[in-house]
Amino acid sequence: MKRVPLRDKMPPVYHRFFEPVLDVEFPEERIATCENCTRCRSAQSPFINTKCCDYHPHLANYLVGGLLSDDSAVFGVGQARIREKIAEKKGVTPYGIIPPVAYVNQRKSFYSERADFHKVARTEAESLLCPYYDNGHCSVWKYRENLCVTYFCSSSGGLKGWNFWDKVNEYLRLTERELSKYVLLQLGWPPEEIITSYIKATDLLLENEQGEVDEKKYQKLWRHWAGREEGFYTRAFEIVNSLDAAGFRQITGQDRTILEEAIRQTQARFIQATLPERLSLHPDVQIAQQGPEKALFSLNEQQIEIPALALPLIRAFNGQRTVKEVFDMGFKVLFNMSGVVQELRDKNMLVPA
Ligand code: SF4
Ligand code: SF4
Repeated sequence: MKRVPLRDKMPPVYHRFFEPVLDVEFPEERIATCENCTRCRSAQSPFINTKCCDYHPHLANYLVGGLLSDDSAVFGVGQARIREKIAEKKGVTPYGIIPPVAYVNQRKSFYSERADFHKVARTEAESLLCPYYDNGHCSVWKYRENLCVTYFCSSSGGLKGWNFWDKVNEYLRLTERELSKYVLLQLGWPPEEIITSYIKATDLLLENEQGEVDEKKYQKLWRHWAGREEGFYTRAFEIVNSLDAAGFRQITGQDRTILEEAIRQTQARFIQATLPERLSLHPDVQIAQQGPEKALFSLNEQQIEIPALALPLIRAFNGQRTVKEVFDMGFKVLFNMSGVVQELRDKNMLVPA
């Protein structure tokens, strides 16, 4: 099993800060292959034009500044999209560029009503498309935020793999939150005006549901930087860029130490739980169809109900096909097998071939 160091995954802006975890290796994520996205394997997929970027990132102030200062031509589109955002003002804050109020509410109501991805319409998914998505690619990649770095629709380590990514995500969120506040302090922001928790559009209410920006609130929030937002973000990047590793450790304190250890611990479990090359169904598993929608799997005293749709896919774990081939069969019919495989492995019904 190929292993990849976290260094390869982490945005370069963090490399000098994250030295304690950069060499932590994780098993290659061989199922969620983003260049050949699992959500784009079927012409019927509602996510064919969005992948999993039906999401609006929260780009911390120094990440926006890094992007704007980057002279590589590949970031031309991302820079133009950021400038459009700044001109619109929606979600534009000194902490960073965050999802506007209307977007947050739309996404919340959308996903609370649709747990089943089969019921998502393509137009609905596309209405939530990330503003930085560009023809299948991320236009801000080097400066993307925590979830964009750590999200995998399926992990080679199942639940244990996701636990590892959750800790890496927390580590990045902590970093983003603390460094963006550090920038404000360095720029002389009055401490009583600095919000110390993770900023949400619905806390600031900079604009209303219709997207109309409250100019008074905006001016107050931005203080003397209003109208010079691009210069502010660029300065934020310079400040973070001149911070050394010792300064970073001091700013992020005990929570960082806890998360570094948690990353190492969850890495060990991720490695142990990594899916083998091939799986097969335990020969003593009994399968009984339960009406048109469900099938009941039994082994000894244990039982699991599985969607009937998944039955031919689970039978495809015959020790001949690789795990990846079977997952790919699932993605072609818009079924992510991660949850079902996890349950069957936990109950010893799917075993290494
Ligand atoms: S995480 Fe999954 S859905 Fe998202 S881009 Fe990668 S393969 Fe596609
Ligand atoms: S920032 Fe990039 S990776 Fe993140 S949601 Fe947008 S396009 Fe996708």
